[in-house]
Amino acid sequence: MYLTRLLYFSECNPELDPCIERILSSARTRNEVEEVSGALWFDGKFFIQALEGQRLAVSRIYHRIAADPRHCNIELVACEAIDTRLFGEWSMGYLAATKRNWANIFKFSGHRELKPREMSPESMLKFLLALEHDD
Ligand code: FAD
Repeated sequence: MYLTRLLYFSECNPELDPCIERILSSARTRNEVEEVSGALWFDGKFFIQALEGQRLAVSRIYHRIAADPRHCNIELVACEAIDTRLFGEWSMGYLAATKRNWANIFKFSGHRELKPREMSPESMLKFLLALEHDD
């Protein structure tokens, strides 16, 4: 049917332990079943996530994620019809805030710290694509 890519960022809820391993494990299991692929950046403060797959599957998963108390201030950055997946290799690739990945921040955000609110949808997507995955 219709392939869709959705991009959002959010802030980690400081009152709950985000336990990224647990998030990734449940994301990967469920996304695989729904044939959804994507990537997730987490730096201790912000999550940035791309989800791609059939429109209904992406929509269903996004609504579940948006209701998750482990993060807040979710901002939808883009949601568009696509012809091909960019993150097709990963049910949910983890983009960790390693030294190497951190070096890309200035290039894409224009600041030494990550300011997702100031990033265009294009920069945010390019940022995710430029990072090394930590599987
Ligand atoms: P259950 O696992 O039964 O949990 C019930 C409720 O508790 C849900 O609202 C859940 O959000 C919440 N919850 C679960 N664990 C905790 C916890 N440790 N502390 C506090 N509340 C908790 N899921 C996907 O399927 N695909 C993804 O790509 C994906 N990405 C995510 C990205 C982020 C940044 C976050 C925070 C979560 C992500 N999740 C993803 C997890 C998703 O939000 C749901 O927790 C998961 O899909 C299970 O949903 P459920 O309704 O079966 O909830």
